[in-house]
Amino acid sequence: MTQLFELPAAVTAPVAGEQHGFPVRRIFCVGRNYAEHAREMGKDPERDPPFFFTKWAETVVFDGTTVPYPQKTGNFHYEAELVVAIGQSGRNLSREEALDHVYGYATGLDMTRRDLQLEARSSGRPWDTGKNVEASSPLGLIHPAAASGHPETGAIRMRVNGEVRQSADLADLIWPVADILVFLSGLYRIEPGDLVYTGTPAGVGAVVEGDELRVEIDGLTAVNVRVGPPAA
Ligand code: MN
Repeated sequence: MTQLFELPAAVTAPVAGEQHGFPVRRIFCVGRNYAEHAREMGKDPERDPPFFFTKWAETVVFDGTTVPYPQKTGNFHYEAELVVAIGQSGRNLSREEALDHVYGYATGLDMTRRDLQLEARSSGRPWDTGKNVEASSPLGLIHPAAASGHPETGAIRMRVNGEVRQSADLADLIWPVADILVFLSGLYRIEPGDLVYTGTPAGVGAVVEGDELRVEIDGLTAVNVRVGPPAA
């Protein structure tokens, strides 16, 4: 059947050393995956199983983008994160096989309407309007694991206007990537094109129009975005 109108093509992410792009299918995000951040959010960092929320693929934007300051918030936050790009389908993966399903890794930001997220959290409602926000998932260049391996340690840093606001190590992840994929693939069949934002360290904070945001992770390419005026 022909369609009444055409939908936009899949968002396609650039890949280091590769002329073909990585088509983005779905976005899964891990909540509270660094103990210090769990504490700053007023939660106990006990090693509870990881929990997930999702964002639309179309929230992905790339290096150099101006992210519009979203509607209905006065507390728009940065969250610097390691992002896992899935390359192979799988359900109920074991820890041993999990990393075979990873295509690569990138720097990323899980931009959040913190006021709406916290309101939702305290009233037991879904986080969607706090988290699944237009242009809220900046993503850096994807580095294929085949070339650069699977990062287990290395500095992760968030800079706002050059100043370091978050600084941690990937070794501080409560649930490392393989464990995240064991849990996630127990809930859904993960698919090529899926992205997993793995959680943010302590030091989250609000941004204002004009701020320059930069996420650095050792061995990966930094991602830079600017906060712009509200979208039309
Ligand atoms: Mn996050």
